[in-house]
Amino acid sequence: MSPGRKKPISILDSPAPAAAQSLFGLTNQQLVGTLREFSEPAYRAKQLSEALYRQWDEDLAEISTLPKSLREAMTGGGYQVGLPKIVETFRSVDGTERYLIAGNDGQTVETVWMPDGDGGEAGDGSDAETDLRRATICVSSQIGCAVNCQFCLTAKLGIQRNLTAGEIAGQVAAVLKRHSVRIGQDRINLVFMGMGEPFLNYDEFMAAARLLVEEVGIPESRMTVSTSGIVTGIQRFAGEKVRPKLAISLNAPNDVIREQIMPITRKWDIAEIIQAVRQVPLRPKEKITFEYVLLGGLNDRPGDADEVSRLLRRANLPLKVNLIVWNPGPGLPYRMSDPEQVAEFQERLRENGIPAFIRRPRGRDIYAACGQLKRTTEIKPAS
Ligand code: SF4
Repeated sequence: MSPGRKKPISILDSPAPAAAQSLFGLTNQQLVGTLREFSEPAYRAKQLSEALYRQWDEDLAEISTLPKSLREAMTGGGYQVGLPKIVETFRSVDGTERYLIAGNDGQTVETVWMPDGDGGEAGDGSDAETDLRRATICVSSQIGCAVNCQFCLTAKLGIQRNLTAGEIAGQVAAVLKRHSVRIGQDRINLVFMGMGEPFLNYDEFMAAARLLVEEVGIPESRMTVSTSGIVTGIQRFAGEKVRPKLAISLNAPNDVIREQIMPITRKWDIAEIIQAVRQVPLRPKEKITFEYVLLGGLNDRPGDADEVSRLLRRANLPLKVNLIVWNPGPGLPYRMSDPEQVAEFQERLRENGIPAFIRRPRGRDIYAACGQLKRTTEIKPAS
């Protein structure tokens, strides 16, 4: 610019307002570090953690265990609680609720509450007690998904972005708060089977799982993560000390059919996936779940059941199969299997020595069922 000429005024010249920093999502150690900035002792981190992860406070001003002066100083320093907010709720005739939950940038992600579970993760008989309040929360790990399974509506969104650990764990906290869940008493299962492929957002997903175990207090044995078969993720998962149970989204008796419906098979075939799964050290009584979405006439024939049985017997793993009747969605070129076909498929697996359960479809009428999460809002939200 020549001397004497005035620099044009640009919006970039004004100091940018400090971005708000969310506390929700920080580990205890990170909270200790944050509080040190305010010359506060480490025990305050415990109080803050209790407020964030057990009381689910939504505003620093609500945290009465912290001195008022500290709450004001933190607010002035740009800190906020950052618990994600439920912005829309859809309620199914079967009691299932689907939520649109806003992340840090206001973009929404989907989370599902299924009272009494869905007969899948709880379908091994371990949840037989009736005196407990039970529910399963289905959690998203990304907005959209890049994996492009052909039977899944989420795939139509493409991948929009990864969620942070705070946004992943925050979905759970927002839903627990809505239902006044009593941690340690009510029986809550978490399934990371919502929008996205958790193993393509590995670090944030695992950080969220650790937070949920260590800070929120949900046992890892009540959590299941499902992957489409991201072998590098399964390999890392095998080395985790604290981790959910593992489910593999299989959906086909062989690579030829799997490739048609799950293009990711071109990168890692079934044999490579099973090889990786075999490296995961299992806890006593732990089983690997194989998810199998039944698509009418494509992978639901008796011969397919026999081929799946042979495949899984060869894997020689403690396992079970969850059968999922495909949930229709606009623009998806499949049909639902007949109920007799589903029953026969299950029977064949069982006769072949493979424990198989049929997952009850939940919340189909509100687009909350498996593979239907696409932020559909063309239905009436619950009041
Ligand atoms: S089924 Fe899961 S991995 Fe496949 S496209 Fe849908 S969200 Fe992604």
